Amino acid sequence: MLENMNEKCAVVGIYGHKEASKLAYFSLHALQHRGQEAAGISSSDGEKLHTIKDRGLVMKVFNEQKLATLSGTNAIGHTRYSTAGDDSILDAQPVFARYDLGEMAIVHNGNLTNADEVRNALIKKGAIFQTFMDTENLIHLIAKSEKEKLLDRIIDAVKRIEGAFSLVFLSRTKMFAMRDRHGFRPLSLGRIANGGYVVASETCAFDLIGAEFIRDVEPGELLIFEQDKAPISVKVFEPTPKKCIFEYVYFARPDSKVFGQSVYQMRKNMGAELSKIRPVEADMVIPVPDGGVPSAIGYSQASGIPYEMGIMRNHYIGRTFIEPTQEMRDLKVKMKLSPMTDIIKGKRVIVIDDSIVRGTTSRRIVKMLKEAGASEVHMRISSPPTTDPCFYGVDTPDKEKLIASNMSTDEICDFIEADSLAYLDSDALLRSVNATTDDYCTACFTGKYIV
Ligand code: AMP
Repeated sequence: MLENMNEKCAVVGIYGHKEASKLAYFSLHALQHRGQEAAGISSSDGEKLHTIKDRGLVMKVFNEQKLATLSGTNAIGHTRYSTAGDDSILDAQPVFARYDLGEMAIVHNGNLTNADEVRNALIKKGAIFQTFMDTENLIHLIAKSEKEKLLDRIIDAVKRIEGAFSLVFLSRTKMFAMRDRHGFRPLSLGRIANGGYVVASETCAFDLIGAEFIRDVEPGELLIFEQDKAPISVKVFEPTPKKCIFEYVYFARPDSKVFGQSVYQMRKNMGAELSKIRPVEADMVIPVPDGGVPSAIGYSQASGIPYEMGIMRNHYIGRTFIEPTQEMRDLKVKMKLSPMTDIIKGKRVIVIDDSIVRGTTSRRIVKMLKEAGASEVHMRISSPPTTDPCFYGVDTPDKEKLIASNMSTDEICDFIEADSLAYLDSDALLRSVNATTDDYCTACFTGKYIV
C-alpha cells in the first residue's frame, strides 16, 4: 500500500510576474495551515527550472538568498502535511523531472486512489521510483506518453489517475492547473495587480499578494498559462462535483473563499444551526481556539448566550495532530490550551469545537474547564460524528481510531466526561453550506465514498 503522501497540502502557481518565486513564497505563508512538514518552490526562467525544497515551515526553508536563486517569471510551490511514513526530503514537493521534452515540476494536493495499481503497472514496464509519493506516478505517465505535446501528455496522464487532485505543472515556458472531475480539493484563479496570474488552494493567498479573485478552477478543468495570453480552459472531464465538506468544517482558513463561499460565514452558519437543533441553557459560549471560533460566534449570536474567550491558545506550539504517538499528543494538548479561570469559574459553559477525531482534545478540554471551576460543561461540535477515514486528501486516522466509529454519542459524552455532548447533523451541515444538490463529499461523516 502506498503511503498517503499528499494529504492536506497546499499548492500555488504564479505565472507571468517578475518576482514569481517571492510571490509563491508569500502565498505559501498564507497557506501554511494546510501543511507544516515540508515546503518547496520550483521556478522557471524560460530555459531551466530551479527547485528548493526542504523539511520544515516555509519561513525556515527559504530566505532572501535562496529565493534569489529561484529566478524567472513563473513558479509553483507546495506545503506538505503528512503524518505517515518517512519524512525524507525526497517526499517534499515540487516533484521535478527531466524527460524527453525538457524539464517539468509538479505540485499536488489530494490523494490518488488507484496509485498502487498505476505504480505497479509502471514498475512492471521498467519504471524506477525514487519516492513513495503518488505524484511521482504522474511524472512517469507524462514521460511515457506517446503524445508529442506536453499538454496532450498531461491530459493522457490525468486520464489514467483516479481520486482527488488539484495539480499545478510547470514547464520551461508554461504552467498548467487542473482539478479532478469531482473537485474534491479547492483551487482558485486570481489576477495579480501588477501583472500575471495566480492559482492557489485558498484565496487567503491572493489577499496577501494583492491578487484579485477571478473564479475557481472548475472540477475537470485544465487551465493553460502561456506567455502574454489569458489562461486557456480545456474541459478534460465532465464535472461531477463532490467538494470536500471538511474544508468548511476544519481545514480552510476563515478568511478564504472556498468553493465560491466565505469559510467564515459557513462556519458561523454551522454554529447558528447547532444552537437551533442542539440548544442548552448556559451562561456563556466559548470556542476551542482557533477552529471553534467562527461557529461559537454563530452559536452565540443565534442563541443570545454571551460569547466569551474561555480558553487561551498558545500559538507557538504546532498542531497537536503532528505528533504520531498518543503520549506526545496528550502532552501537546496541555501545552497548547489553557483555561481563563476568572471567566469560567462557577459558570455553565457551552464549548464549541469543529470536530472530534480521537477524542483526546475534547476529553482534555472538559477536564481542564472542570478543574478551572466550570459548574457545567456542554460540548457542542459543529459537524456530525467523524466515523470514517478520508481517502481523498484529508488526514484522518484509521477507522478504529476514530472514536465515533466505535462509540455512540452518549458513550463519547461519558468518555470525555462532559455534562452533555451534541453534534450537528448531516442535513443541518449541508444547509449551513448552502448545498442544494448532492455536490459535496461527506464520506468522513457517512462512509459513502464516491471513488
Ligand atoms: P482529537 O483530539 O483526535 O479528537 O482531535 C480533535 C481536534 O483535532 C479538533 O480540535 C479539531 O479541530 C482537530 N482536527 C480535526 N481534524 C483534523 C485533521 N485532519 N488534522 C488536524 N487536526 C484536526
